[in-house]
Amino acid sequence: MALCAFAGVMMEFLLSGRFRFISSHIGIDATMRVHQLMARMLTLALILHPFLYTGGGINSPMVWDVTRQASLNFGLAGVLTGLVAWIALIVLVLMGMFREKHSGGYEAWRASHGFAALIVAVFGTVHVLRAGRYSEAPLLTWFWIAMLVIAITTLVWVYVLKPLWQIGHPYTVRSLRRIADRTWEVVIAPDRGEAIQFEAGQFVWLNIGNSPFSLFENPFSIASAPSQRGELAFVIKEVGDFTRSLGGIATGTRAYVDGPHGNMTIAGRGGAGIALYAGGVGIAPILSILRELRESGDPRPVMLLYGNRAADQIVYREELQEAARRMDLQVEHFLMEPPADWRGRTGVIDEAALAEAFRNRDAADWLHVICGPLPLIERIEKALLSDGVPSSRILSERFYYD
Ligand SMILES: Cc1cc2nc3c(=O)[nH]c(=O)nc-3n(C[C@H](O)[C@H](O)[C@H](O)COP(=O)(O)OP(=O)(O)OC[C@H]3O[C@@H](n4cnc5c(N)ncnc54)[C@H](O)[C@@H]3O)c2cc1C
Repeated sequence: MALCAFAGVMMEFLLSGRFRFISSHIGIDATMRVHQLMARMLTLALILHPFLYTGGGINSPMVWDVTRQASLNFGLAGVLTGLVAWIALIVLVLMGMFREKHSGGYEAWRASHGFAALIVAVFGTVHVLRAGRYSEAPLLTWFWIAMLVIAITTLVWVYVLKPLWQIGHPYTVRSLRRIADRTWEVVIAPDRGEAIQFEAGQFVWLNIGNSPFSLFENPFSIASAPSQRGELAFVIKEVGDFTRSLGGIATGTRAYVDGPHGNMTIAGRGGAGIALYAGGVGIAPILSILRELRESGDPRPVMLLYGNRAADQIVYREELQEAARRMDLQVEHFLMEPPADWRGRTGVIDEAALAEAFRNRDAADWLHVICGPLPLIERIEKALLSDGVPSSRILSERFYYD
């Protein structure tokens, strides 16, 4: 049990959300959920395992191991390294579960998470090799060394190799303007050549004004269309330390991107029509998809249900109106707090709004893309599923990375 659980812990390094070959296939939300669920289950097994070994007292053989084939080597290196890894793992998982309460900010949390993970990997591997009997077999010894190399390589990749690559591929902030209440449009352009290739709906880790080796980078969806090769645009809402500092950033500031990541993309997914649902700043990746559909002249009907609290939070209203004239696009604005002269819809995008939107169409034939606050995503997903839309036709992404 302990060996299987520790092998799982070592694979957790690949599920940190920084590896495109995973997150671009199953999506960042699923990657992070698997990472967390696995961490909790594996930790439970690893918390228990010393008690199973020593249940009958440290010197008495285990009831299922009277011949002591599997018993531990209780030498100093075996026991102490295990104790360090065991405590570090518990701290690591508790810190992850209570991250919101961490007072030092996301970056400090991320640094301590990475450091504790390294301790678990290194001390855990020494413990596995020194304390148990099974791992004395050469094949298993090499297996554990390979696992440790993979774990350390993931850290070196994220914290050393990627930043080194970014130094050779710098971007510059080209423009920055307030486009709605506490909402900014940020446009960056590569110093040389073209911007990264991505699919509409994907996101990057964006670092503005810091060294590429710093931990100050945040995930933001790209709002521009992939065909706009010379620059990347973002729509960013002020919520915390970095996003509230946007107004003070000068054009010409150095920027770096890590990506693209995420799988909320419509390329190759089919669908008789495309229904886009955005709540607040969740419009960012939806805009990218919409702009790409417009630029590529996709003939399919498109519907955008766009919800905000107040009218001054709506972004790119004219562009959306213009797009509705140029393509088969129906735009429905929803406001929770509408002004007196509001002519759009009121309230949130709910089951009734969906029933209305699909009165003469079969929702099951369409592709549905949802981005916004979690309650909005869950509500729309639930309504679509109960309308018989297969889950393979529903894509969503929440703007919360834990
Ligand atoms: C896939 C994805 C795409 C997103 N796209 C957009 C977008 O297009 N527009 C937009 O306005 N917002 C987007 N967000 C949300 C955005 O990342 C956060 O609002 C932003 O990071 C907050 O940073 P802060 O320093 O201002 O706030 P803080 O108060 O420091 O952080 C608030 C919360 O933001 C998250 N966060 C902060 N820093 C990081 C980080 N370095 N890495 C990961 N998460 C972090 C954490 O959950 C944190 O609890 C997206 C989030 C995700 C996961």
